[in-house]
Amino acid sequence: MDIKEAEEAAVTHVQLAGNKGILQSDLWRELKLNSREGSRIAVKLEKQGLLRRVKELSGGRWTYRLYSNDKNRPIKKFSWTNLDNCPCFVCINAKICGAGQTVNPIQCNELDIWIIQQIDSKDEDDDNSEELE
Ligand code: SF4
Repeated sequence: MDIKEAEEAAVTHVQLAGNKGILQSDLWRELKLNSREGSRIAVKLEKQGLLRRVKELSGGRWTYRLYSNDKNRPIKKFSWTNLDNCPCFVCINAKICGAGQTVNPIQCNELDIWIIQQIDSKDEDDDNSEELE
């Protein structure tokens, strides 16, 4: 995942976390980033107004909880009917993946990347259809 993809994934994760936000350490773990890379991304996204960081004491250590700035980037409502290339169909962990399990769809980087790609391709389709009208 390059830096641009990591930023997009971070914004999407924070949006999906809704009003409860997400601890940045949990987010970096999900995105397989180290805390230094993650902190740099969080500061950059905050400067761009895409999220806000709120200091929080967690497990005896100060960290930040990240919240979406919905006014600047509303959550995209999206549904799709195409499951082409969904990573779950060829996943070696499919049999042990499930809600409440160590391996689960909520913390699956491969699934997140695939969903983001679906959203991006849907946006491109929408942009192209507007040009044709
Ligand atoms: S959510 Fe992730 S871990 Fe679970 S089956 Fe799909 S690709 Fe595999």
